[in-house]
Amino acid sequence: MKYDVAVIGAGPAGSASASMLSSLGYRTLIIDPCNKKKVCAGILTAQYVRKYRKNDDFVERELKGSRISFRDIHAEITYRRAAEYSINRESYDRFNLNEAIIAGSELRMEKVSSIEEKISSIMIRTNKEPIITDYAIIASGISDLSQLCGGTKKYAFCMQQKKYIKPGDYYEIDLKPGSYSWSAPKKDYVLTGSSSLEGYPDIPGEKGLIPFGPVKKTFSKRFLLAGDAAGFVSPFEGEGLYYSRRSGELAAETLSNTMSGKNMLSDYQIRWKKEFDFSALTMISSLISNSSILEAFVRSARDSEEFNIFVENILTGDNKKFKIKEICFLIKMLSKNLLKKKKVLSPFDTIIL
Ligand SMILES: Cc1cc2nc3c(=O)[nH]c(=O)nc-3n(C[C@H](O)[C@H](O)[C@H](O)COP(=O)(O)OP(=O)(O)OC[C@H]3O[C@@H](n4cnc5c(N)ncnc54)[C@H](O)[C@@H]3O)c2cc1C
Repeated sequence: MKYDVAVIGAGPAGSASASMLSSLGYRTLIIDPCNKKKVCAGILTAQYVRKYRKNDDFVERELKGSRISFRDIHAEITYRRAAEYSINRESYDRFNLNEAIIAGSELRMEKVSSIEEKISSIMIRTNKEPIITDYAIIASGISDLSQLCGGTKKYAFCMQQKKYIKPGDYYEIDLKPGSYSWSAPKKDYVLTGSSSLEGYPDIPGEKGLIPFGPVKKTFSKRFLLAGDAAGFVSPFEGEGLYYSRRSGELAAETLSNTMSGKNMLSDYQIRWKKEFDFSALTMISSLISNSSILEAFVRSARDSEEFNIFVENILTGDNKKFKIKEICFLIKMLSKNLLKKKKVLSPFDTIIL
């Protein structure tokens, strides 16, 4: 049987795109061996919760917000207008895949070894008979396959482990210049982890990779890249579930419009660029890669109500792009804290920032 679309990978990106394509009536095949455990803190961010419904099948805990810290400085960012949820990642993936199957997608539990673009179709090889499809969505996360198809090659290395300690109601992020550790409360345990750009942190646990993206080109003649394969992850705390799911939908819509002659696959790139604005998060991430600025950032969030709300708006995705007024506010607050610290160290120092 020839398929309209083959979706490779049944993570949030693949399942979302397959669900949408099947609902629109396209013959859709999902290919995933479904044998790999996902290493993930499992936080559904406020941005995700605003757009998509949560479900008791996978939600473990409602969170009040995030706690960020640097060394012994801690700031509590309670979300005033938003909610975040801590989920069971395995149940979440199962739920999404099931929705795609209910919508009409077929599932083949196989590993794709190669993809060959021909003039009017795509040939996909697994260890069983080859699959012929008109188009494909590569949603295979960070994998050899995505890399063969032009997917992301830059990532952070993570280790994560389960700890049977009493869970709280905040997602905790301990920031260091260029890396961070986290603590994600579940129903009756906590997932703790650390990331590094240099290689896997030397602590026990399960390994995972977070991509740095997005990649330059997310489309080809007959396939699109979605989710982690395209590097769609927040540059601040590595959150990718929202971007995976949403990019899966955008890829499905673009393919549907292409098959009905309304657009071209290259329109996908225009669409996600319009929607995914990482500029505020990128600016914050690069600023706090300096330890003095990071310290000033956390201190300001702890001591100033106004700055605390500012950080809340960034973390909840309410503020994705800074206006000039906000950049000035950020610089003013960080400078004030940097100068305060400078004064403690050297009372005669008159550095003007
Ligand atoms: C340690 C860690 C913590 C994280 N915590 C969070 C968090 O709290 N919140 C958040 O929003 N994001 C988090 N993320 C990021 C999030 O997990 C990813 O962004 C998200 O899983 C990406 O979804 P995806 O569908 O693109 O890919 P994936 O979820 O990785 O799914 C890819 C699928 O492709 C399949 N596949 C791979 N190769 C092949 C092949 N050759 N043939 C067929 N199938 C294949 C795999 O089996 C897999 O099922 C975290 C990531 C890490 C590493």
